[in-house]
Amino acid sequence: MKTDILGVAFDALTLDEAEERADTLLRSGAGGYIVTANPEIVLHCREDAAYAAAVNGAALVFADGVGDLCAARILGTPLPERVTGADLVPRLLSRLAQRSGSVFLYGARPGVAQRAGEKLKSAYPGLRIAGAENGYISDETALFAALEREKPDLLLLGLGAPRQELWMARNRQKINAVMIGVGGLLDVFAGDIPRAPESWQRLGLEWLYRLIREPKRFRRMLRLPKYLWAVMLKRIRGT
Ligand code: UDP
Repeated sequence: MKTDILGVAFDALTLDEAEERADTLLRSGAGGYIVTANPEIVLHCREDAAYAAAVNGAALVFADGVGDLCAARILGTPLPERVTGADLVPRLLSRLAQRSGSVFLYGARPGVAQRAGEKLKSAYPGLRIAGAENGYISDETALFAALEREKPDLLLLGLGAPRQELWMARNRQKINAVMIGVGGLLDVFAGDIPRAPESWQRLGLEWLYRLIREPKRFRRMLRLPKYLWAVMLKRIRGT
């Protein structure tokens, strides 16, 4: 079932269901991409039709932020829970490892994806790291050649939004792997940035934890009230 929030069609699934659906996609071999959309992504979709098409072109769209859950509740179509890349990707890697599957890592500053790959290899014995490339290259020829050669099952794109969603939509036909835009998750996998403690996550305060660690995110977070206001107007006016 899809839940519309300001023009973005979210899949209303629990984390367990999302894992099942994403794994089915992986096993189908048909490719496709997954977006975990936070409020910033939804707002950006309202301002940029090409970006909205890229996000809605995903096989699966999940609610990454507590703001999305609030918005869905205001609209009277609640979403069951958050499905973040940080929760979903480790589950998929674990499933891939059990069947000797492979993952390719593309994104983050030079060296980060390689280190993330080494950490993942030891965390998930059986998982094949098909390759790693930093997210600041200007020529992607060698990257595409590596993807063609290695044929990974899963491609993690840590280029940040909106770049990663546009990249996935643009290259959907060229790439056989299932792709997921993971934002800064490669930095987390490499051990460079810690994830919020579970107690903070349970309280829906992961955003606050990230804000304390990276105060420069403050400007970005100022957009959350704008998002909730747009949702309330939509509820009131029904437009
Ligand atoms: N990044 C990248 N190439 C770029 C710009 C950013 O690979 O040209 C990476 C950056 O190093 C970081 C990630 O994209 O690893 C963005 O992280 P952030 O936490 O800002 O992601 P978001 O909150 O946008 O999902």
